[in-house]
Amino acid sequence: MASISLRGIVKRYGSGPKATAVIHGLDAEIGEGEFVVIVGPSGCGKSTLLRMVAGLEEVTDGQIVFRTAAGERVVNDVEPAARDIAMVFQNYALYPHMSVYDNMAYGLKIAKVPKDEIRQRVEKAARILELGGLLERRPRQLSGGQRQRVAMGRAIVRQPQVFLFDEPLSNLDAKLRAQTRLEIQKLHAELGVTSLFVTHDQVEAMTLAQRMIVMNGGRMEQFGTPEAVYARP
Ligand code: ADP
Ligand code: ADP
Repeated sequence: MASISLRGIVKRYGSGPKATAVIHGLDAEIGEGEFVVIVGPSGCGKSTLLRMVAGLEEVTDGQIVFRTAAGERVVNDVEPAARDIAMVFQNYALYPHMSVYDNMAYGLKIAKVPKDEIRQRVEKAARILELGGLLERRPRQLSGGQRQRVAMGRAIVRQPQVFLFDEPLSNLDAKLRAQTRLEIQKLHAELGVTSLFVTHDQVEAMTLAQRMIVMNGGRMEQFGTPEAVYARP
């Protein structure tokens, strides 16, 4: 697991006189194994921040640092695939012609992970996500909730140091949203992977977060436990 330091993070889109800053110098320390939710209104910069941690967006100024047992590395210039992260989006695209097993195994095959190890990792993920009996099915033979779990399985099998969630629940109906939220909590309890979860939904933030970052207009307004954040006048 990695801890993450965000040091003086600035993001500007565009350049010269037309440049607009959307993140204005953000500092935060996310502990090893911690589940942190980034919450705030639409357009406040949540997604931009997460995408910078993922390496999908360049950091204009400041440093993103991952710290593991192996040491500390500034990841600003590290490509996404080499960051040891896995991202879960709201629109998970499963391969329709592949079985559940192959959907989860695909990324590992590309990465040339040995077959035996792929099988072990897929079976472990399937056990955690209760997909054990469904490995031979195609996505169209699954319920919405099961598909969402396969998408999470694909992230788990990579054994990342960090999980990044970009509003993964926002397209689901209320029942499925509640169910998937429990699934994510269980996953974190079991694997303890450092997680950053972006949402605009305060209830979601409160129920999932160990600590939450409250953003507004590209700035961090608060960073604390849900109790501490909501106790503030
Ligand atoms: P949130 O995830 O909180 O809704 P975003 O991170 O998506 O917010 O966006 C933050 C701000 O940056 C918004 O004002 C948005 O319009 C702007 N923005 C996002 N992406 C781009 C881009 N590629 N070019 C210019 N501005 C952008
Ligand atoms: P390839 O086409 O590269 O041979 P396969 O998809 O046939 O890959 O299977 C790769 C490995 O995964 C094999 O060792 C196979 O036994 C194992 N495997 C495939 N499907 C399952 C499954 N549903 N449950 C357990 N192991 C599986």
